[in-house]
Amino acid sequence: MLNILQRISQDISSARDLRATLDMVVLSLLEMMVSDACSIFLWDSESRRFVLSANQGFAAHNIGNLSLNAGEGIIALVGKREEPINLADAAHHPSFHFVQGIGEEAYHGMLAVPIIHQRKLLGVIMVQKKAKIAYASADEALLVTISAQLSAAIAHAKASGYLGRDFFGHTLLNNIYRGVVGSSGVAIGTAYMGKANANLDSIGHRDTDDIDGEITLFETALANVRLDMTEVGNHFARDLRPEERAIFDVYLRMLDDAALGQEVIQEIAKGQWAQGALATVVKRYSKHFESMEDPYIRERATDIRDMGRRILSYLQAEDTHIGTFPERAVIIGEELTPAILAEIPENHIAALVSIKGSANSHIAIFARAMGIPTVMGVTDFPYQNLLGQELVVDGYRGKVLSNLTNEKKQHYRDIIAEERALVQGLDNLIPKPCTTLDGVTHQLLVNTGLMTDVVRALDRGAEGVGLYRTEIPFMMRDRFPSEFEQTEIYRQQLKIFHPRDVVMRTLDIGGDKALSYFPINEQNPFLGWRGIRVTLDHPEIFMVQLRAMLRASEGLNNLKILLPMVTNNSEIDEAMHLLYRAMHELQEEGIEVQQPKVGMMVEIPANVYQIASVAHHVDFLSVGSNDLTQYLLAVDRTNPRVAGMFDSFHPGVLRALQLIVDEAKAADIEVSICGEIAGDPIGAIILSAMGYRNLSMSSTSLLKVKSVLRQISHSWAVELLRDVTKLDDPRVVRATIELALQSQDISLSKLGISKFAHDG
Ligand code: PEP
Ligand code: MG
Repeated sequence: MLNILQRISQDISSARDLRATLDMVVLSLLEMMVSDACSIFLWDSESRRFVLSANQGFAAHNIGNLSLNAGEGIIALVGKREEPINLADAAHHPSFHFVQGIGEEAYHGMLAVPIIHQRKLLGVIMVQKKAKIAYASADEALLVTISAQLSAAIAHAKASGYLGRDFFGHTLLNNIYRGVVGSSGVAIGTAYMGKANANLDSIGHRDTDDIDGEITLFETALANVRLDMTEVGNHFARDLRPEERAIFDVYLRMLDDAALGQEVIQEIAKGQWAQGALATVVKRYSKHFESMEDPYIRERATDIRDMGRRILSYLQAEDTHIGTFPERAVIIGEELTPAILAEIPENHIAALVSIKGSANSHIAIFARAMGIPTVMGVTDFPYQNLLGQELVVDGYRGKVLSNLTNEKKQHYRDIIAEERALVQGLDNLIPKPCTTLDGVTHQLLVNTGLMTDVVRALDRGAEGVGLYRTEIPFMMRDRFPSEFEQTEIYRQQLKIFHPRDVVMRTLDIGGDKALSYFPINEQNPFLGWRGIRVTLDHPEIFMVQLRAMLRASEGLNNLKILLPMVTNNSEIDEAMHLLYRAMHELQEEGIEVQQPKVGMMVEIPANVYQIASVAHHVDFLSVGSNDLTQYLLAVDRTNPRVAGMFDSFHPGVLRALQLIVDEAKAADIEVSICGEIAGDPIGAIILSAMGYRNLSMSSTSLLKVKSVLRQISHSWAVELLRDVTKLDDPRVVRATIELALQSQDISLSKLGISKFAHDG
């Protein structure tokens, strides 16, 4: 038993071994379950038939040739019911369907179990015996266990395209691969793998007689990568601060490090070709770094490999000629880093897809600032097989789609065309206020992190910064920024937006926001050492940040400070104590500081019920609906398996949002909202109806939200809200509001949201 399960788990990662796995399973089960026949039928969603794909007991020619339609026999019944069927004499079951010529008349006892992966039926596994007796319940349990294990292997083969091609003889259509949202938007493009994916492991040793020639090749490749890195740094020079560009300097420094280059040249001098010499040295270095105690140094192993792969791709002739990338590239990588932006001009980048990483990975932060649709953490994504193929990247829902039917493809083309038209058509709204038809005005603020965000936000008429995520500049470096460096960064934000307010959130690390130089390893990071919990435990870090913020605001006085992940009011008091100390110190140093307003993020469920008491401790509140949704629904916002359940329109979340704004009004405390729901046009209607007047969002959402709020009347929205709060399905909430908008003759397509409502 253990053996067969172990074999299946080993085979899961290798889609190409599926046939061998299935053959092994049917053979082993025949013996273990004392049966006379064992079959695996796989479901072909195109032909809508169950295809016999592995068997012991029938004549061999039936494999691949025998198939049953969706309504035929007990197999179809098991598939439909999605539960096991255990019969003493299958021939007497009303659903029994006799198949001529396979010798089935000899079998009576039958146990059949569906094979299901993430709610999708993949096939049915069945054992049969000649005796007229049902299988024991222990047999049933065993077959269910095997089926559950097998489902992952089959799903992997399906995702890889192997299932359709090798088992059904045709490609499966409309394949969906799920990840999490990295940056919103939709794009269609050609799957393209960046240089950082060249495979160092596949490079073997090869002797060379032309040592000088190989050294020249290596040096040229090194120079090319150095050029790439410098170019991307320059490319961002206008939009990014030097601090934000530091990430590219790390790579440059590594390439300038004589040791690595010299070692490769020494290896070549021994008679190895350049590719082999590079692979040897990079492996040696990364192994050395990986064995280090210091997590920061360990992290450098990733960078060394990334650079190694880039140099290798230049050494490999077919990748060196310029212009091989597609017109509209969907760039795919195991773990994309911002260095990818060095490879391909921005106008050729349609979208980004990363197998590893989350919404807070560096590349996702850059993608949001640049408005590139991005999906992160797409597990089970067979990208090697998809290169060169057309892909759709749905950055609204964290999905990548391949082999789409024309109809589906058109659906996405329409969305792209509508969005393009929308963005062009909305420019005239920039100077106008965000006021409803019946005169209710909203303040539209922006969420920032990188300087690129600031530039875009001003272009789109942001009325201030509702959330400046200070952890982003921290994440872009390889050590904590000094007080002086932080002051510079913060002052730039405050100055650009002056006299409008800038809400700066104190360092919110932990969860999935990692600093490579301050690693936090925990079993449950989202419930662990996060946000203010970290900074209160490290006053030396917190004080430097508070002093830098206060200094930066000298003479401008448009700073507001926001505290993240507060559980107890005492944490606010402690933070205030440190703030007073910082102010006092600076005043003694002769710096004119004014006391900024201090607010609290409402993002932990307990916060919702404590608004009245919190109001005595802070000046304003800002609702972090992303974390609030995560914690209220107990859905990890970084886990693609449960991404479909993460929905801020859940009635429980909506009730919490309503309670917060009501309690805030009662306590006479200012409240704003800065989670993703505020930047969703439908979400903005709900929030407006609830009473939120300050909405903070990414700069790409500003004009869409303004457009929808200017087209509705507030009293209409309030009535609509009354109706939708009675609904119990988040998708129905969205669909209902969209229908209501349509009935008001508000063109949904002009808001770029119409096509998403009914697209599972
Ligand atoms: C939130 O949680 O809603 C929020 C705005 O903060 P972040 O996404 O940075 O955690
Ligand atoms: Mg948060």
